[in-house]
Amino acid sequence: MNKPTYTIKPLYLGEMTRYEKSMHTFTFDYGVKMHSPYLAFLVQGDGKNILVDTGPKNLEVIKRYHSHVEADVPPEVHLLKVLEKHGLKPEDIDFIICTHLHWDHCQNNDCFPSKKVYTQKREVLYAINPVELHWYTYESPQCGLTPVWASAGTKLVVLDGDEEIIPGIEVFLTPGHTPGSQCVRVNTEDGYYLIAGDTVNIYENWEGNAKYHHVPAGIHVDLREYEETFKKMDKIDFKVILPGHDMKVLEHSVYPY
Ligand SMILES: [Zn+2]
Repeated sequence: MNKPTYTIKPLYLGEMTRYEKSMHTFTFDYGVKMHSPYLAFLVQGDGKNILVDTGPKNLEVIKRYHSHVEADVPPEVHLLKVLEKHGLKPEDIDFIICTHLHWDHCQNNDCFPSKKVYTQKREVLYAINPVELHWYTYESPQCGLTPVWASAGTKLVVLDGDEEIIPGIEVFLTPGHTPGSQCVRVNTEDGYYLIAGDTVNIYENWEGNAKYHHVPAGIHVDLREYEETFKKMDKIDFKVILPGHDMKVLEHSVYPY
């Protein structure tokens, strides 16, 4: 039986306005500043509306706890407003997949109470007890915060490795950027598309540069694992990759286009 096919809509949820490029591309191009969007992805097909990541909450929260980020997040690009423009209410969302649990990928999970949120066991275990340097990145209790992913009232579904969530929607464990990052492979009429999360921040991470085949994100926990992840991804069948923070993703409002 043929698997169902889906479309993917990238959702613009604000941006980092002067982001240090080398934070995306290991140490390369230090000093170059770039616009870098916060993104979620709306995957639709077979009667389902699926969200991949939920983005940041608002500028106030970013400025209070993530002040290193120069950001522009106007209220009209909050996830719920953006979904409304697509004719969707929170209850219309069937389930959420979080590529990882950094704050900018899961801060609106609480807008979807009782919905399933798929994430990796390794990510949850790390998010509960990260190194001090990552306390704010995970908004962990160690810095006095309550992480939204843990308090959202959602049904956390903890995965242990690669898995097909429903026919045509699969996740692949891709550690490196974080211990339990995952990519989401979506079956489309044009073949498989891979929503990469921050395993691939911008296209350059995947396409490489003059020196390296692939380039890890500047923010990473384990370069050996990251390299193994890239080797694994080289073997995964997909036609198009969609990075987690690249403006170019927004050149098309829907994939395949
Ligand atoms: Zn991110």
